[in-house]
Amino acid sequence: MLDSIVGDVIQIVKWQEESIKESFERSIIFHMAHHNDDQFELLKGNVSHVALDLLVGEKAKIQMLITSNSSCGCHLFMTRGLLCACRLSNNAKITPDEIDVFWRKLNLNPSLLNEDKNVDIDVQMDRVIQHIKNQPNPVKKSMMSKVLSAVSHLNQ
Ligand SMILES: [Zn+2]
Repeated sequence: MLDSIVGDVIQIVKWQEESIKESFERSIIFHMAHHNDDQFELLKGNVSHVALDLLVGEKAKIQMLITSNSSCGCHLFMTRGLLCACRLSNNAKITPDEIDVFWRKLNLNPSLLNEDKNVDIDVQMDRVIQHIKNQPNPVKKSMMSKVLSAVSHLNQ
């Protein structure tokens, strides 16, 4: 039982690293037209496309919130560590520092996951766990919530 949970977690961590890395590599190669917004200029190539998509979508909500006189709710900020409509509304350029490290993690730690298929997965797993342990609590929480949501997705 424990073995299979550990196996699941290893798979999830691997999958997360790979999918983020893949998306991150695409982000470096392509600069998508709909991301051509001065406000996000400093983020291009530094955060994943998924993060940019979410930010572009959030920015589109600003006018709607003003028109309907609604409050932001700050959902994106609380759940994803990305700037929400009220934080984007001043139109200031966003720096990568303002984005949850999750979205730019591989840029900072490209050596975290060794590409060599012969490397012991348990050793890599330990490195990943050690890396997560060394993060500040909000980052830990963010990373754990992503792992846990992936686990619950697998169990559905
Ligand atoms: Zn907000």
